Amino acid sequence: MDFDLTPDQQALVRMVAGFARDHVAPAQAEMERDNRFPIKAWAAWSDLGMAGAMIPEAHGGSGLDSLSYLLCVEELAATSQTFTQIWQIHSLVSLLIADLGTPEQQAALLPDLAAGRKTPAFALTEPGAGSDAAAIRTRADRQPDGGWRLNGTKTFITNTGSDISDGTVVFAVTGQRPGGRPAITAFHVPRDTPGFSWGPPLPKMAWHGLHTRELALADVRLRADQQLGPEGGAFSAALRSLTLGRIGLAALACGLARACRDLSLDYALQRQQFGKPIAAFQLTQAKLADMAAHHDAMCHMTHHAAWLHATGRECQAAASMAKLVTSRLAASIARDAMLIHGGSGYMTDTPANRLFREAQVLEIGEGTTEIQQIILARHMGCPA
Ligand SMILES: Cc1cc2nc3c(=O)[nH]c(=O)nc-3n(C[C@H](O)[C@H](O)[C@H](O)COP(=O)(O)OP(=O)(O)OC[C@H]3O[C@@H](n4cnc5c(N)ncnc54)[C@H](O)[C@@H]3O)c2cc1C
Repeated sequence: MDFDLTPDQQALVRMVAGFARDHVAPAQAEMERDNRFPIKAWAAWSDLGMAGAMIPEAHGGSGLDSLSYLLCVEELAATSQTFTQIWQIHSLVSLLIADLGTPEQQAALLPDLAAGRKTPAFALTEPGAGSDAAAIRTRADRQPDGGWRLNGTKTFITNTGSDISDGTVVFAVTGQRPGGRPAITAFHVPRDTPGFSWGPPLPKMAWHGLHTRELALADVRLRADQQLGPEGGAFSAALRSLTLGRIGLAALACGLARACRDLSLDYALQRQQFGKPIAAFQLTQAKLADMAAHHDAMCHMTHHAAWLHATGRECQAAASMAKLVTSRLAASIARDAMLIHGGSGYMTDTPANRLFREAQVLEIGEGTTEIQQIILARHMGCPA
């Protein structure tokens, strides 16, 4: 076994750490205060080629392998969960377009995404279909000219509504498969398409600066060449994208745990009670030691799943395990971090409080804790 990063990976992670310190930390403070998309930091990140990290070089991207990408996610996430998640959604949808798109669609769509001029969105969830994603009701009906007409409502759709949000991949039912399952097809919907609209940002407990909205599709007319991938073939592509998304969420959890550990240790060393730093109390030390050990375990699981993915091996179970374990541990570490900060941890303008709020969503996105447990039980041979 070789646990060393390559020299290129080490240099990349160092570059990301420097960028996070100089650009993302100030952007994080502004996002938390103003709830606005971090356009300056995003432009600087894009100038480094990172908006196109997962896009093939032939289309203007950097063509990073998935392990290197996930190491960057983890590093960036220790400074800002929000900025990292903006980048993750951007990267995963870009990859999906590269995966499903025809050569013409790739040539038309990927250069703007690689340059960070546009950020796309992934619209699967609906008011009546979350964990049971195959129950979506948004319909796409074939038109006599070969195009499509879409009707439906999507909800909780992230990376929407900013000045550069453009290009939503919408999943819709286009018929029935043998056995009665819906045939689901993906479509690329530009922001200015008549009938397509997004609502106001939904009020979230954290991830301020990253907007999540409801989308309406009312008689949206699309050309035949706005269909992405084969008719009825989008569900398996969405599931492939979710596997990398789950490892990405685990990397986000690792970054969050590291931030909690470092913040808590600093605070415990300087906060005095009973004439001593609270780090001198064994009960505080136990919390700090658990944070360090759990963070280490989280990183090992996540790196292993990332390595399986990057080397093209089967990794669905490893991705679910990493997501399940890291999101739960992150929530418990963030709670301990808040408690170590005492009353100030309860104040919503402190980093410890923000990390506690941010940790809660990790058990929900990319498939809830219970969905990961179901996937793993099936892998173990339990009946459906
Ligand atoms: C901040 C945020 C951003 C998001 N961004 C996007 C996005 O960009 N695009 C997108 O498409 N979606 C997005 N989502 C949606 C997200 O993927 C869903 O919220 C998630 O899949 C859960 O679906 P739900 O909210 O409908 O909950 P439900 O599916 O209704 O689940 C409610 C509860 O029931 C449990 N449950 C459900 N089924 C079972 C079962 N079979 N057995 C046991 N328990 C079960 C769940 O685990 C959960 O605890 C986002 C959500 C959030 C909060």
